[in-house]
Amino acid sequence: MHHRIKEFPCTQCGLCCQNVNLAVETSSLDRGDGTCKHYRDTDKSCTIYTDRPDICRVDRQYDLHYADKFSWDEFIDLNLKVCDILLHESETPYLNKDKPGETTLLPDRNLSKPDR
Ligand code: SF4
Repeated sequence: MHHRIKEFPCTQCGLCCQNVNLAVETSSLDRGDGTCKHYRDTDKSCTIYTDRPDICRVDRQYDLHYADKFSWDEFIDLNLKVCDILLHESETPYLNKDKPGETTLLPDRNLSKPDR
């Protein structure tokens, strides 16, 4: 396990869980409409979160397959690009945690901040 000073900045938008049909690694989770069979729509949660498969664990995927190819920060950036594509395509308003009551289409992720 590699030491990391920051966590993956997941906004819990739920879009990765709603598009499992888009990747061969997750397509077996598809309940039939592209959404994972373990996803709960009402609160955007994973019903098997503590036992979710390795493919759903970004830190585990990094350790298993990408640690020799990318730094943790580079891996975060690559994954966030996919998050942003899903957000753009869904046009789902994202609740801005820093500005209660405001929504934007994309989370304001300032990756240059050293504390993230
Ligand atoms: S198992 Fe859980 S974390 Fe993984 S795609 Fe399904 S709902 Fe999302």
